[in-house]
Amino acid sequence: SGAPPPAEDIGADDIFIAVKTTKKFHRPRLNLLLDTWISRNVQQTYIFTDGEDEELKRKMGSHAINTNCSAAHSRQALSCKMAVEYDKFIESGKKWFCHVDDDNYVNVRTLVKHLSQYPHTQDMYIGKPSLDRPIEATERLGDNKMKPVNFWFATGGAGFCVSRGLALKMSPWASGGHFMNTAEKIRLPDDCTIGYIIESVLGVPLTRSNLFHSHLENLQQVSRSEIHKQITLSYGMFENKSNIINLKGAFPVEEDPSRFKSVHCLLYPDTPWCPPQVAF
Ligand code: UDP
Ligand code: MN
Repeated sequence: SGAPPPAEDIGADDIFIAVKTTKKFHRPRLNLLLDTWISRNVQQTYIFTDGEDEELKRKMGSHAINTNCSAAHSRQALSCKMAVEYDKFIESGKKWFCHVDDDNYVNVRTLVKHLSQYPHTQDMYIGKPSLDRPIEATERLGDNKMKPVNFWFATGGAGFCVSRGLALKMSPWASGGHFMNTAEKIRLPDDCTIGYIIESVLGVPLTRSNLFHSHLENLQQVSRSEIHKQITLSYGMFENKSNIINLKGAFPVEEDPSRFKSVHCLLYPDTPWCPPQVAF
């Protein structure tokens, strides 16, 4: 089975990649992304954080965005950041909005190929659900009334994308201060709120993709020969054990615990700091 024919001839510049981070993760997490996949995609990437960082501004210019949201890991603080991501995307005029966390590697070449299957004017919400069933939530209506709602959502930790056509329809629930109000109505995290607006309010189904990966799944199952086909990767802990992709690559695990440097050298072997390719 070959790749389906492109519906649209898009390039990396048509995609807005929002990276959510927080001041305390600039050094331990964001620098690794800046040295790897972001270094090849500065024009497509926008960093959403909660504190000033001169070095980050020097590297990213206007693409380093201080949301002025609280640095707490609260539902409100995270929704505040997602609201700013949404507004900046709309302002950018780009065709696709993609959100990732600061522990995701994004393979932008594959992302471009994948999104070009769909017209950006069509309603598209693409990602990977973190649950194997729809989430059950309660929508708080006015005057103490509650309504149960069920919907699928793409887990933010694996990354997800929304077409511009759909993003524009989300505006009454997502733009300006509306996103925070919507999040309060269901009292769930930012990625669930996105799913609620798209699936529950607008009736547009999530398109599942197994090419997005979070550290909530067993990352050992991604094999070396498949790495270049994946859209996002991650690393982290799962059930108290380190959860990383299994790649014998350019760097040993001690020097590259996330495996992102080794992945980057596999995808971009001409990177100056990658060891020379060995011929087999
Ligand atoms: N994060 C944040 N503010 C915080 C803590 C985390 O914006 O106070 C961001 C973090 O940078 C990451 C995402 O939220 O992009 C998820 O955080 P983490 O990976 O630590 O937690 P997970 O939900 O994956 O367990
Ligand atoms: Mn994480």
